[in-house]
Amino acid sequence: MGGLVSLTKLCFLPPDNLFVLKTLKTFESRIISYFRGSLNASIMALKCGIVGLPNVGKSTLFNCLSNAKAQSANFPFCTIEPNVGVINVPDERLNKLSELVNPQKVQAATVEIVDIAGLVKGASQGEGLGNQFLGNIRECHAILHVLRCFDDDNIVHVDGSVDPIRDKEVIDYELQIKDLETVDKAIEKIQRQVKIGDKEAAKEYELLKTYKETLEAGKAARTVQLEEKNREIGENLFLLTNKPILYVCNVDEGSVQNGNKHVECVKEMVAAENAEVIVVGAGIESEITELTDPDEREMFLGELGLEEPGVNRLIRQAYSLLDLRTYFTAGEKEVRAWTIHAGDTAPQAAGVIHTDFEKGFIRAEVIAYNDYVSLGSENAVKEAGKLKVEGKEYEVQDGDVMHFRFNV
Ligand code: GDP
Repeated sequence: MGGLVSLTKLCFLPPDNLFVLKTLKTFESRIISYFRGSLNASIMALKCGIVGLPNVGKSTLFNCLSNAKAQSANFPFCTIEPNVGVINVPDERLNKLSELVNPQKVQAATVEIVDIAGLVKGASQGEGLGNQFLGNIRECHAILHVLRCFDDDNIVHVDGSVDPIRDKEVIDYELQIKDLETVDKAIEKIQRQVKIGDKEAAKEYELLKTYKETLEAGKAARTVQLEEKNREIGENLFLLTNKPILYVCNVDEGSVQNGNKHVECVKEMVAAENAEVIVVGAGIESEITELTDPDEREMFLGELGLEEPGVNRLIRQAYSLLDLRTYFTAGEKEVRAWTIHAGDTAPQAAGVIHTDFEKGFIRAEVIAYNDYVSLGSENAVKEAGKLKVEGKEYEVQDGDVMHFRFNV
């Protein structure tokens, strides 16, 4: 924002000006720190893993999402190595702010997508690519589970027919078996401490037993209602079925708007699971991503009855699945979206740009997104008295346009 820009301008004044030198000394570390932060910005590496049986459209979807060149072919196991793509989170607000500020650079918030191969029936016992998928899923913050909801006789199904419920159960089972192994190992480890009367261990043991019963009943760990005091124990187990999940129904061209019978079955099944469902046509979406002419793209989308590509919705939904929020920085050099967690305070938000910003946080100057857009510029906001100065306790709101004052 303005303050920072004027400081950077000061750097280029002749050094014989004592006042400038003094000012520079005071602010030097802040400026250097700002640029270091700006260059090495420690963007949170938010990862979503795409899972699903072979041939359900994972690679096709991955390609639409990331433009990375994952293989996509009509046979199982065509994605052998996990493929990683970094995706910009589509955000109309960023475009709007950029129009107003006209910066040299615009940077959206990003999410990393990993195309995870090798999950087939028996994978937990070493079938297909075996346990390779495990490590990949463990590293992810959320799971996008692709279910084949399109009929196409030309595309082989590993189990011979299109049945997303059966497919979902196959994958669920494999993940639950791995989680059960993890829980059993933890129980074995803790039993001795329980026997000698360790109260903390007893508490943990009770929770582990609940997880075991849940998993043995064929349910995901995320269905266990954790009391606040047990949250940390639960999280430290890193269970695969505890991760937030979004079911992606991959449908044919004619069903992208209203879904189909397969989608209805998935929705019914998932209702009790506290998970979300999204309908996307990966095949048709991949054709849309190939259109570079925006008018052509819009026409194509219109013919399908869509306002925007389904992958845009998917990215946004994944982002909200992770309970993330966005704040913006807006300066002549760069307008940028930054990712934070819901409930993060101003220093925590500053720390996403650079740890020094968090350590040396003094205050934040905050403009609500709607004020910025309706008044049209930072100066207009200031004149209207709508720029707020907030301290360490301030909980950053989605869309806030922020400028941090700090000392290092
Ligand atoms: P993966 O094994 O799950 O990664 O599946 P792929 O993305 O490689 O897709 C397998 C085959 O299904 C490819 O031939 C794709 O072109 C095709 N496919 C993917 N999505 C769709 C879709 O929405 N409709 C149709 N008809 N075919 C699709």
